[in-house]
Amino acid sequence: MSGQICYFDNNATTRVAPAVVEAMLPFLTEQWGNPSSLYGFGQDLNRPLEQARAKVAALINAELTEIIFTSCGTESINSVLRSAVAIRPGRRHIVATAVEHSATLKCCRFLETQGCSITYLPVNADGALDLALLEHSIRQDTALVSVMSANNETGLLFPVAEIAALCHEKGIPCHTDAVQMAGKLRLNVRALGVDFLSLSAHKLHAPKGIGALYVKSGTKYQPYLMGGGQETGRRGGTENVAGIVGFGRAAELALGNLEIQNTRVRALRDKLERQILSQIPGAVRNGPSEPRLPNSTNIAFDAIEAEGLLLLLDEAGICASSGSACAAGSLDPSHVLTAMGFGAARARGSIRFSLGIDSTEAEVDYVLKVLPGLLRKCNGSGQTT
Ligand SMILES: *Cc1c(COP(=O)(O)O)cnc(C)c1O
Repeated sequence: MSGQICYFDNNATTRVAPAVVEAMLPFLTEQWGNPSSLYGFGQDLNRPLEQARAKVAALINAELTEIIFTSCGTESINSVLRSAVAIRPGRRHIVATAVEHSATLKCCRFLETQGCSITYLPVNADGALDLALLEHSIRQDTALVSVMSANNETGLLFPVAEIAALCHEKGIPCHTDAVQMAGKLRLNVRALGVDFLSLSAHKLHAPKGIGALYVKSGTKYQPYLMGGGQETGRRGGTENVAGIVGFGRAAELALGNLEIQNTRVRALRDKLERQILSQIPGAVRNGPSEPRLPNSTNIAFDAIEAEGLLLLLDEAGICASSGSACAAGSLDPSHVLTAMGFGAARARGSIRFSLGIDSTEAEVDYVLKVLPGLLRKCNGSGQTT
């Protein structure tokens, strides 16, 4: 591994695929016009934009007109939450889970300061929701139910189709943050029955700064960014043409790579996890093995600080993470592991390894080889708690 990094943090971001860079390049060099212009040099960009839209739509089995390009997953999520409480004045209540990504949680907390009320559903030790409780949390004034498809820290999956059906019985729209699910497991908005779904390109081998929001045909939606009439008036701002084209190409590749995720990546993840759990005394998995993303494992190590271990892993050229990248840097224990009922010591001693289609068996073997020594070093190096 020398001179190279062993990248096991694909839930934080992914390498831009060479084929994606190649697809984008013409739109950063020769074809740099504005698609809203009336001359051909700009107008000609509408075709590649719509082709990319069709590819992103195909990734989730949506119609072309149901895809709005945004700048990131965070924007898509914020837009849905704000739209929900804006379009029906009497409805100012949102149901979310306690384990959502900060893009949802921080926006919910802001909406609380604006007079909205939020129910944060608890999870059990397996990270699972009580669907009866979810149903009972829906009120007369509920504007939206928002539940992630897959958790970014543990990889745990939520029963989104069942949740959407519950919402619809009560006439409430349902949103899912599918940022982690996309490109790893098949996503079908028709089968899920959701009204809104958020995607981010950089989690599936396209660049950062481009996302998408699925809005089911006929669903009321209030734009978040208002400006030019781009995205049929649903998202102002001159299109990130190269980013959109890259997202389209990545979506196309992701569909073709689902099989690899579920065979090769899953087997590598399982090997890594199995050997860590069997060879390292006191190591335990956070959450059940299924239902889970094929690429992620979250492991609690006995009597260590994850921060210290991550630094040692970094010195060894290994990229992993504690909690979510977005919350990293803070010393607070993971809100996800805390919500699952684990104490601060366990939460602070937990590491997430998230593999990807570029991961190799040699990398897994390398991590397995160096980890025991790093843990010993970690244990011996003046722990703080
Ligand atoms: C990364 C992530 C986001 C945010 O996406 P950005 O494009 O980085 O804004 C939202 N939700 C989940 C579950 C994520 O993992």
